[in-house]
Amino acid sequence: MRKIDDGLTPQQRFALRHPERLKEISRAWRERHHDKVLAREREYHALHREERRAYSRGYHALHREENRKTALAYYYAHREERATYSRLYRQAHLEECRARARAYLATHPEKRREHKAEYYARKRGAMICDFTAEQWERLKEIYQNRCAYCGKVCDDLEQDHVLPLSRGGDHTLYNIVPACRSCNGEKHDKTLPEYLEYIWQKRGYIK
Ligand SMILES: [Zn+2]
Repeated sequence: MRKIDDGLTPQQRFALRHPERLKEISRAWRERHHDKVLAREREYHALHREERRAYSRGYHALHREENRKTALAYYYAHREERATYSRLYRQAHLEECRARARAYLATHPEKRREHKAEYYARKRGAMICDFTAEQWERLKEIYQNRCAYCGKVCDDLEQDHVLPLSRGGDHTLYNIVPACRSCNGEKHDKTLPEYLEYIWQKRGYIK
């Protein structure tokens, strides 16, 4: 038989002739040696960490808009899946999850209040519940710790939902103002126009 001298090893020649078969073999090998594959990837990543970081920073800067859209689309497309996964995870690790949440909330009272407010907002039918403890602190600062309705300085301001939750309002930054207990109670489930009409009449400003 004539010896072929193409400068290739027998493996390379095989690869050229049977690309599909080669893919299969390598897939099977990777499946059989999953641990080895992972270890090799880890090693590679550790060796090229800085390089990879610089590359992805550059790539990300170039494709910012595109990436954002892809990420958002992915986020929404996998909503159900993610919810199912976390439900199952929680079921399987119930005690652990509870203990972790308890420990976290014990050291973060503002988060505890945030959770509580969110819980009640959901119960009362709010669709969007993304108001955070940080936003609440910032909001009070902007209002200089005054009630949005009567202007009184108050150290136990309450979160008033401008459009009440019971009327379709959301528990979100754009629907919340700080209010003193008395104004919040008085406004109750009135919309802002209804409340304004109420106080003008009650205080006799307008007949
Ligand atoms: Zn007030």
